[in-house]
Amino acid sequence: MTDMLNEHLKKLEPYRERICAGILPHFIGGAPDPGSSGLTFENLTPVDNSKLCDVARGTAAEIGRAAEAAEAAFSDWRKASGKARKQILHKIADLIVARREEIALLECLDTGQAIRFMKAAADRSAVNYRYFADRAPEAADGLALPSDEHMNYTTRQPIGPVGVITPWNTPFMLSTWKIAPALAAGCTVVHKPAEWSPLTATILAEIGQEAGLPPGAHNLVHGLGEDAGVALTVHEAIRAVAFVGESATGSKIMAQGAPTLKRVHFELGGKNPAIVFDDADLDRALDAAVFMIYSLNGERCTSSSRLLVQRSIHDAFVEKLAARVRNIRVGHPLDPETEVGPLIHPVHFDKVMGYMDVAKADGATVAVGGTRNAFSGDGNFVSATLFTGARTDMRIAQEEIFGPVLTVIPFDDEEEAVRIGNDVRYGLAGYLWTGDVGRAHRVAQALDAGMIWVNSQNVRHLPSPFGGTKASGIGRDGGDYSFDFYMETKNICIALGDHRIPKLGA
Ligand code: NAD
Repeated sequence: MTDMLNEHLKKLEPYRERICAGILPHFIGGAPDPGSSGLTFENLTPVDNSKLCDVARGTAAEIGRAAEAAEAAFSDWRKASGKARKQILHKIADLIVARREEIALLECLDTGQAIRFMKAAADRSAVNYRYFADRAPEAADGLALPSDEHMNYTTRQPIGPVGVITPWNTPFMLSTWKIAPALAAGCTVVHKPAEWSPLTATILAEIGQEAGLPPGAHNLVHGLGEDAGVALTVHEAIRAVAFVGESATGSKIMAQGAPTLKRVHFELGGKNPAIVFDDADLDRALDAAVFMIYSLNGERCTSSSRLLVQRSIHDAFVEKLAARVRNIRVGHPLDPETEVGPLIHPVHFDKVMGYMDVAKADGATVAVGGTRNAFSGDGNFVSATLFTGARTDMRIAQEEIFGPVLTVIPFDDEEEAVRIGNDVRYGLAGYLWTGDVGRAHRVAQALDAGMIWVNSQNVRHLPSPFGGTKASGIGRDGGDYSFDFYMETKNICIALGDHRIPKLGA
């Protein structure tokens, strides 16, 4: 164990004792709420699968109370001035920063994500709040659309109480990405976080209250997808559902929300290609490809999980790649040396490990890894894994594995690269590496994905649209796109004078 790991473990203990003491409660109407059913579920740490805490297990009853609280709070929060919302959201950001160490350490323990990435989780989340705080005063802005005899103008109004359902991969950051714009728009929120990573959602709800949100503006109900999640998506008072998670769950939520005509926003799975042409800066391409699949344990929707390498450079590039993958440090998530931590849950660990056999059965080569990592027998540690010699029709090239596992596929020319790049049901992100400007534009236009990065890893710019095509999602987040989801656009048409009105029955 490194000294820094010991230090982190020591610092973590008081945070852990506080948040894991007793049963982790819901947060409804501005206060912790133990739930009425007495039901709980266990929350494990992926480090060794020991129990971190029991968590209140919400049902339709808790969702009902949270939705009522959100509905009651909506009438005041929607009327709060943009300036008032801005101030409170900035205060939330301040409090997130003040608790940055606690958030980072607990997130690592709860999810298995490495501290080298999670140490920025709170700061990035605070930036999300600040970004939307600053835009709150202009959220209602619209357009003037004059015609000859009328003045049309548009304005936006918050849609109402919304449901936010989030996954376990980077739960704190993702929750802020959804909840901050909803609150900035004037909506109130019922949040149902993933059952495998509930800890930091509780911190966020506490912070919202401390910052001065009206009670009921930000509610939190812990629970399983099949009961609390379903109840949220069918509740009459919830006007829209922002969901981040698997594509199959998105389909279910769309069906569940249909009877109450829910507006939905989906950020779903990905099987994103990173395409490396032989005229690229190959050293930078290598750094980015390795980073985009082995950071965040590969549990990343925008991971470059398919690496398409031009055949003329394939063997040399893959040799360097394999050397890097062999060096990836798997270890305790709180150790600053660790690059890949344990996967979230034994069920997910088994899913990822299952692909090692799938790869062999399909005829690909397991060039590196492919095994449980020796770091700890009890935790969900997978060795950084590289599959080579793959074809696009193999399951390892088609299915989202969501672990530190990269599939390499060779291609001959631009046309084949685009064909393979698009040959999946997903369309979230694409990465492309070339020194030819014309090719960069051609391929970026031809790839069927919501986001393309050229000669770059995934670098987010908050005003730009984030989201996917095909089975990767519906809608876009970021900047004004978020307000379009959380708000209704209203057109107001005013006659400028005595225009002609048809006279019936005159
Ligand atoms: P998941 O779909 O299993 O669960 C996500 C959330 O949905 C959880 O809170 C769960 O309890 C809830 N849920 C499950 N069934 C439900 C139902 N029937 N009704 C309502 N809620 C329900 O996803 P996961 O395994 O937690 O997360 C991993 C997935 O998330 C991956 O596919 C990944 O690509 C995706 N993801 C996408 C993005 C993106 O921006 N596109 C970002 C992060 C993760």
